[in-house]
Amino acid sequence: MFNAEENLSLADKLLKKLFPICRSITGKGNRTTLSELSEYVPLKIHEVKSGTSVFDWTVPDEWNIQDAWIKDSQGNKIVDFQKSNLSVVNYSTPLHEKLSFSELDKHLHTLPNNPDAIPYRTSYYKKTWGFCLTYNQYLKLDRNATYEVFIDSHHDAKGSLTFADALHKGKSKQEILLSTYCCHPSLANDNLSGMILSVLLFRYLSTLETEYSYRLVIAPETIGVITYLFSHQTEVSNIAAGAVITTVAGKGALGLKPSFQGNHWVDRISRSVLNETTAKWVEYPFVPDGSDERQYASPGFRIPTVSITKDKYYEYPEYHTSLDNLQLVTAEQLLTTLKVYVKWFEAIEANRTYSRKMPFGEYQLGKRGLYPQLGGSINQGSNINEQVSALEWTMFGCDGKTDLLSLSEKSKLPIKVLFNAAQSLYKAGLLEDKTGALK
Ligand code: ZN
Repeated sequence: MFNAEENLSLADKLLKKLFPICRSITGKGNRTTLSELSEYVPLKIHEVKSGTSVFDWTVPDEWNIQDAWIKDSQGNKIVDFQKSNLSVVNYSTPLHEKLSFSELDKHLHTLPNNPDAIPYRTSYYKKTWGFCLTYNQYLKLDRNATYEVFIDSHHDAKGSLTFADALHKGKSKQEILLSTYCCHPSLANDNLSGMILSVLLFRYLSTLETEYSYRLVIAPETIGVITYLFSHQTEVSNIAAGAVITTVAGKGALGLKPSFQGNHWVDRISRSVLNETTAKWVEYPFVPDGSDERQYASPGFRIPTVSITKDKYYEYPEYHTSLDNLQLVTAEQLLTTLKVYVKWFEAIEANRTYSRKMPFGEYQLGKRGLYPQLGGSINQGSNINEQVSALEWTMFGCDGKTDLLSLSEKSKLPIKVLFNAAQSLYKAGLLEDKTGALK
């Protein structure tokens, strides 16, 4: 059974522990994060050398940073990497110089429309440097002063890019993918929440015997997933569908970004579990802009992936700023989405296709004692009327072609309830399991 209380306290612990770490697409921050997470799931860590060609891309030099600051003419640190690691443009080149305001100004990034937020900026493939600060701080800078600027960073052509994966083996070789990214520094919803949810979900399902196998991938967004796909092409062909797990613990509404296919069973299952959870969820259109579905669903792979979100990236004002922090994100909010993903996983497992052994007319259930037995086998969250209704739907609908998801959509009954009904008919020898090679 899924233990909500235990997961809530683990989520809280991991949010606080991993939030301060400065991650990037390469470097020590990722290794620290992945090694912390591997205490909860058996992660296999992969290192791919800088300079390696992966499809149309090249793994960049490894970037690490120790410190960075701007001092005013009195020697006061007015911008300090130690206080917020968003203060430096990710991938900045090293520097120690005295600059006039107008020279420095070309390298400063602010958000005039969100004046108390430090923006998150990166420059992975263009060698440059920069600082990020709040617009209110920026307005206070003396336009006539000289500033001392220091960035202690290092680009290593002999470094590597780090990502991790894990596999839980089920009865079938076909895999369901859970993918998330680990490259954003000190940003809570985008995407520390995604890493923590993925790990907790995978940790839970690993304790169960499953029909499908489950693959967890934690990699830097874009280049990390391209590198994973490039280096694991044989295994990737086993992936039937999956989720790109991102931005799952904001204060706002639950949401769904469907797959490129749009009406694949993984989309329909996602809609079904969201409908079971709340009437107030939002469906976003599929666009080829977003997260790692851009790689997984590219023409060579076309893996259908969904994202079930809570304050989806782009959609909340704190997105990619210092305000995407632990005031915005809580373990309780993360648990809300984790529970939806647990239902999603359970529905994927329960979506089977059965066929009636004797297909003519209705079965006479009474003479087999199936009605009275039902009373004794009341399942979690379903009442007796729901169970009788589920029995009628499965008896009527199981024709070897119609899966339980389709019956759930027609009947508005949860797949799990239909699955339990089908199981009682199956155990009575009235149904055959035709799922066979899983879809
Ligand atoms: Zn992002």
